[in-house]
Amino acid sequence: MSITLPTAIIGGGPIALAAAAQLVKRNMPFILFEKGAQIASSVLSWKHVRMFSPWEFNMDSAAKELLMESGWHAPAKDHMPTGLELVNEYLLPLSQLKQLQSFIHLQSSVKAIYRKGFDKMKTAGRDLAVFIIEYEQHGNLLRIEASSVIDATGTWLTPNPMSFFSNVCETSVEVCVLPVSSAPSWNDPRSGNALSLDLPPIFSCTPILIVAETDVCIDVV
Ligand SMILES: Cc1cc2nc3c(=O)[nH]c(=O)nc-3n(C[C@H](O)[C@H](O)[C@H](O)COP(=O)(O)OP(=O)(O)OC[C@H]3O[C@@H](n4cnc5c(N)ncnc54)[C@H](O)[C@@H]3O)c2cc1C
Repeated sequence: MSITLPTAIIGGGPIALAAAAQLVKRNMPFILFEKGAQIASSVLSWKHVRMFSPWEFNMDSAAKELLMESGWHAPAKDHMPTGLELVNEYLLPLSQLKQLQSFIHLQSSVKAIYRKGFDKMKTAGRDLAVFIIEYEQHGNLLRIEASSVIDATGTWLTPNPMSFFSNVCETSVEVCVLPVSSAPSWNDPRSGNALSLDLPPIFSCTPILIVAETDVCIDVV
Protein backbone atom coordinates (compact mmCIF):
# COMPACT_ATOMS: atom_id res chain seq x y z
CA MET A 1 0.00 0.00 0.00
CA SER A 2 1.30 3.44 -0.87
CA ILE A 3 2.04 5.57 2.17
CA THR A 4 1.90 8.72 0.01
CA LEU A 5 -1.86 8.33 -0.27
CA PRO A 6 -3.78 10.41 2.26
CA THR A 7 -5.67 9.16 5.25
CA ALA A 8 -9.36 9.79 4.61
CA ILE A 9 -11.11 11.35 7.61
CA ILE A 10 -14.87 10.99 7.39
CA GLY A 11 -16.67 13.72 9.31
CA GLY A 12 -15.83 17.29 10.25
CA GLY A 13 -16.64 17.39 13.96
CA PRO A 14 -14.33 17.65 16.99
CA ILE A 15 -12.91 14.15 16.59
CA ALA A 16 -12.25 14.49 12.86
CA LEU A 17 -10.49 17.83 13.31
CA ALA A 18 -8.44 16.45 16.20
CA ALA A 19 -7.41 13.54 13.97
CA ALA A 20 -6.44 16.00 11.24
CA ALA A 21 -4.32 18.00 13.70
CA GLN A 22 -2.60 14.82 14.89
CA LEU A 23 -1.80 13.86 11.30
CA VAL A 24 -0.45 17.34 10.56
CA LYS A 25 1.85 17.02 13.57
CA ARG A 26 3.13 13.72 12.12
CA ASN A 27 3.56 15.15 8.61
CA MET A 28 1.07 12.66 7.25
CA PRO A 29 -1.27 13.64 4.39
CA PHE A 30 -5.02 13.58 4.92
CA ILE A 31 -8.26 14.52 3.25
CA LEU A 32 -11.33 15.31 5.32
CA PHE A 33 -14.97 14.99 4.18
CA GLU A 34 -17.78 16.81 5.97
CA LYS A 35 -21.28 16.35 4.64
CA GLY A 36 -22.54 19.66 6.06
CA ALA A 37 -22.03 23.11 4.59
CA GLN A 38 -19.88 24.01 7.60
CA ILE A 39 -17.48 22.08 9.77
CA ALA A 40 -19.03 20.61 12.91
CA SER A 41 -22.53 20.64 11.41
CA SER A 42 -23.80 18.22 14.03
CA VAL A 43 -22.48 20.33 16.91
CA LEU A 44 -24.17 23.34 15.34
CA SER A 45 -27.50 21.49 15.63
CA TRP A 46 -27.22 21.94 19.39
CA LYS A 47 -25.26 25.17 19.35
CA HIS A 48 -27.47 26.80 22.00
CA VAL A 49 -26.81 24.07 24.58
CA ARG A 50 -23.95 24.23 27.06
CA MET A 51 -21.57 21.27 27.15
CA PHE A 52 -21.18 19.20 30.30
CA SER A 53 -17.38 19.18 30.26
CA PRO A 54 -15.17 22.28 30.46
CA TRP A 55 -12.80 23.48 27.72
CA GLU A 56 -9.89 21.62 29.28
CA PHE A 57 -11.43 18.30 28.21
CA ASN A 58 -12.83 19.44 24.87
CA MET A 59 -9.61 20.25 23.04
CA ASP A 60 -6.99 18.05 21.44
CA SER A 61 -3.33 18.62 22.36
CA ALA A 62 -2.06 18.68 18.75
CA ALA A 63 -4.90 21.01 17.74
CA LYS A 64 -4.04 23.36 20.61
CA GLU A 65 -0.38 23.39 19.63
CA LEU A 66 -1.18 24.25 16.01
CA LEU A 67 -3.62 26.95 17.06
CA MET A 68 -1.15 28.49 19.51
CA GLU A 69 1.51 28.64 16.81
CA SER A 70 -0.94 30.82 14.88
CA GLY A 71 -1.41 33.26 17.78
CA TRP A 72 -4.68 31.82 19.10
CA HIS A 73 -5.47 32.23 22.80
CA ALA A 74 -6.97 29.24 24.57
CA PRO A 75 -10.27 29.84 26.36
CA ALA A 76 -10.45 29.54 30.16
CA LYS A 77 -10.02 25.85 30.82
CA ASP A 78 -12.70 25.60 33.52
CA HIS A 79 -15.44 27.29 31.47
CA MET A 80 -18.12 25.09 29.91
CA PRO A 81 -18.76 26.26 26.35
CA THR A 82 -21.98 26.07 24.41
CA GLY A 83 -21.92 24.17 21.13
CA LEU A 84 -21.59 27.46 19.30
CA GLU A 85 -18.64 28.55 21.44
CA LEU A 86 -16.97 25.19 20.80
CA VAL A 87 -17.25 25.84 17.08
CA ASN A 88 -16.46 29.56 16.99
CA GLU A 89 -13.64 29.60 19.53
CA TYR A 90 -11.93 26.34 18.68
CA LEU A 91 -13.14 24.19 15.78
CA LEU A 92 -13.59 26.93 13.21
CA PRO A 93 -10.18 28.58 13.81
CA LEU A 94 -8.63 25.10 13.75
CA SER A 95 -10.26 24.27 10.42
CA GLN A 96 -9.04 27.58 8.99
CA LEU A 97 -5.36 26.94 9.72
CA LYS A 98 -3.37 26.71 6.51
CA GLN A 99 -2.21 23.20 7.41
CA LEU A 100 -5.82 22.00 7.46
CA GLN A 101 -8.03 24.27 5.37
CA SER A 102 -7.20 23.12 1.87
CA PHE A 103 -7.64 19.46 2.80
CA ILE A 104 -11.16 19.93 4.16
CA HIS A 105 -14.02 19.22 1.76
CA LEU A 106 -17.40 20.54 2.83
CA GLN A 107 -20.73 19.39 1.40
CA SER A 108 -19.03 16.08 0.72
CA SER A 109 -21.00 13.14 1.96
CA VAL A 110 -19.19 9.81 2.01
CA LYS A 111 -21.40 7.11 0.54
CA ALA A 112 -19.16 4.04 0.38
CA ILE A 113 -15.73 2.80 1.42
CA TYR A 114 -14.17 -0.32 -0.01
CA ARG A 115 -10.85 -1.92 -0.90
CA LYS A 116 -9.68 -1.38 -4.45
CA GLY A 117 -10.23 -4.45 -6.59
CA PHE A 118 -12.00 -6.39 -3.85
CA ASP A 119 -15.57 -7.36 -3.39
CA LYS A 120 -17.05 -9.10 -0.38
CA MET A 121 -16.14 -12.53 -1.73
CA LYS A 122 -12.37 -11.93 -1.85
CA THR A 123 -10.15 -11.94 1.18
CA ALA A 124 -6.57 -12.84 0.22
CA GLY A 125 -4.55 -9.63 -0.03
CA ARG A 126 -7.41 -7.42 1.12
CA ASP A 127 -5.34 -5.84 3.89
CA LEU A 128 -2.74 -4.63 1.36
CA ALA A 129 -5.20 -2.98 -1.01
CA VAL A 130 -5.82 0.76 -0.90
CA PHE A 131 -9.19 2.14 0.11
CA ILE A 132 -11.57 3.76 -2.32
CA ILE A 133 -13.74 6.49 -0.85
CA GLU A 134 -16.91 7.33 -2.75
CA TYR A 135 -18.41 10.68 -1.88
CA GLU A 136 -21.14 12.90 -3.18
CA GLN A 137 -20.34 16.55 -3.74
CA HIS A 138 -22.79 18.98 -5.36
CA GLY A 139 -24.71 16.12 -6.95
CA ASN A 140 -21.63 14.38 -8.36
CA LEU A 141 -20.38 11.01 -7.19
CA LEU A 142 -16.59 11.19 -6.88
CA ARG A 143 -13.91 8.71 -5.83
CA ILE A 144 -10.47 9.04 -4.28
CA GLU A 145 -7.92 6.55 -3.05
CA ALA A 146 -6.73 6.53 0.55
CA SER A 147 -4.15 4.60 2.53
CA SER A 148 -6.33 4.43 5.63
CA VAL A 149 -9.68 5.64 6.91
CA ILE A 150 -10.76 7.33 10.13
CA ASP A 151 -14.49 7.17 10.70
CA ALA A 152 -15.38 10.23 12.77
CA THR A 153 -19.01 10.52 11.71
CA GLY A 154 -20.26 10.66 15.29
CA THR A 155 -23.60 9.48 16.53
CA TRP A 156 -25.80 12.55 16.08
CA LEU A 157 -26.98 11.54 12.60
CA THR A 158 -27.21 7.84 13.46
CA PRO A 159 -28.71 7.78 16.92
CA ASN A 160 -29.72 4.96 19.19
CA PRO A 161 -30.37 1.82 17.14
CA MET A 162 -33.73 1.23 18.84
CA SER A 163 -35.96 1.13 15.80
CA PHE A 164 -38.55 3.42 17.28
CA PHE A 165 -36.12 6.29 17.72
CA SER A 166 -34.62 5.94 14.30
CA ASN A 167 -37.97 6.06 12.58
CA VAL A 168 -39.89 8.90 14.12
CA CYS A 169 -40.49 12.53 13.58
CA GLU A 170 -37.20 14.19 12.84
CA THR A 171 -39.12 17.35 12.16
CA SER A 172 -40.92 17.48 15.49
CA VAL A 173 -39.85 20.08 18.05
CA GLU A 174 -41.54 18.26 20.90
CA VAL A 175 -39.69 16.55 23.70
CA CYS A 176 -41.10 13.61 25.55
CA VAL A 177 -40.74 12.81 29.20
CA LEU A 178 -41.82 9.23 29.70
CA PRO A 179 -42.71 8.30 33.27
CA VAL A 180 -41.52 4.73 33.73
CA SER A 181 -44.83 3.57 35.14
CA SER A 182 -46.93 4.80 32.24
CA ALA A 183 -44.53 5.10 29.36
CA PRO A 184 -45.82 3.49 26.19
CA SER A 185 -43.64 0.88 24.61
CA TRP A 186 -41.49 2.02 21.71
CA ASN A 187 -43.95 0.52 19.29
CA ASP A 188 -47.01 1.98 20.99
CA PRO A 189 -48.92 4.25 18.59
CA ARG A 190 -49.54 6.62 21.54
CA SER A 191 -45.90 7.63 21.19
CA GLY A 192 -46.75 8.61 17.61
CA ASN A 193 -45.32 12.01 16.85
CA ALA A 194 -44.28 12.79 20.36
CA LEU A 195 -40.61 11.94 20.37
CA SER A 196 -37.97 14.04 18.74
CA LEU A 197 -34.28 13.70 18.10
CA ASP A 198 -33.87 17.45 18.01
CA LEU A 199 -33.01 19.56 20.99
CA PRO A 200 -35.65 22.27 21.20
CA PRO A 201 -34.59 25.87 20.63
CA ILE A 202 -34.78 27.02 24.25
CA PHE A 203 -35.26 30.68 23.50
CA SER A 204 -38.50 30.14 21.64
CA CYS A 205 -41.80 28.99 23.03
CA THR A 206 -41.59 25.26 22.58
CA PRO A 207 -44.20 22.81 23.78
CA ILE A 208 -42.98 19.90 25.82
CA LEU A 209 -45.33 16.99 25.57
CA ILE A 210 -45.37 14.63 28.50
CA VAL A 211 -46.71 11.28 27.44
CA ALA A 212 -48.56 9.66 30.32
CA GLU A 213 -52.04 8.36 30.88
CA THR A 214 -53.27 11.77 29.91
CA ASP A 215 -51.14 14.10 27.86
CA VAL A 216 -50.07 17.33 29.50
CA CYS A 217 -48.49 20.19 27.60
CA ILE A 218 -46.18 22.66 29.21
CA ASP A 219 -44.92 25.77 27.51
CA VAL A 220 -41.27 26.63 27.94
CA VAL A 221 -40.30 30.23 27.40
C1 LIG B 1 -26.12 18.84 24.08
C2 LIG B 1 -24.85 18.05 23.98
C3 LIG B 1 -23.82 18.32 24.86
C4 LIG B 1 -22.65 17.60 24.77
N1 LIG B 1 -21.64 17.88 25.66
C5 LIG B 1 -20.51 17.14 25.60
C6 LIG B 1 -19.43 17.40 26.54
O1 LIG B 1 -19.53 18.26 27.38
N2 LIG B 1 -18.31 16.66 26.42
C7 LIG B 1 -18.18 15.68 25.48
O2 LIG B 1 -17.14 15.03 25.44
N3 LIG B 1 -19.16 15.41 24.61
C8 LIG B 1 -20.31 16.11 24.65
N4 LIG B 1 -21.32 15.85 23.79
C9 LIG B 1 -21.14 14.79 22.85
C10 LIG B 1 -20.51 15.43 21.64
O3 LIG B 1 -21.50 15.66 20.68
C11 LIG B 1 -19.47 14.56 21.11
O4 LIG B 1 -18.49 14.29 22.13
C12 LIG B 1 -18.74 15.16 19.93
O5 LIG B 1 -19.54 16.01 19.14
C13 LIG B 1 -18.30 13.98 19.13
O6 LIG B 1 -17.58 14.49 18.07
P1 LIG B 1 -17.47 13.68 16.74
O7 LIG B 1 -16.54 14.46 15.85
O8 LIG B 1 -17.16 12.26 17.01
O9 LIG B 1 -18.94 13.63 16.13
P2 LIG B 1 -19.93 14.80 15.65
O10 LIG B 1 -19.75 16.04 16.42
O11 LIG B 1 -21.27 14.16 15.62
O12 LIG B 1 -19.45 15.10 14.17
C14 LIG B 1 -19.63 14.16 13.13
C15 LIG B 1 -19.58 14.91 11.81
O13 LIG B 1 -19.56 13.96 10.76
C16 LIG B 1 -20.35 14.44 9.69
N5 LIG B 1 -20.78 13.28 8.93
C17 LIG B 1 -21.63 12.31 9.33
N6 LIG B 1 -21.77 11.38 8.36
C18 LIG B 1 -21.00 11.78 7.33
C19 LIG B 1 -20.71 11.23 6.03
N7 LIG B 1 -21.25 10.10 5.62
N8 LIG B 1 -19.86 11.92 5.22
C20 LIG B 1 -19.30 13.07 5.64
N9 LIG B 1 -19.53 13.64 6.84
C21 LIG B 1 -20.36 12.98 7.68
C22 LIG B 1 -21.49 15.19 10.39
O14 LIG B 1 -22.07 16.16 9.53
C23 LIG B 1 -20.78 15.81 11.58
O15 LIG B 1 -20.35 17.13 11.36
C24 LIG B 1 -22.49 16.57 23.83
C25 LIG B 1 -23.54 16.32 22.93
C26 LIG B 1 -24.70 17.05 23.01
C27 LIG B 1 -25.82 16.74 22.07
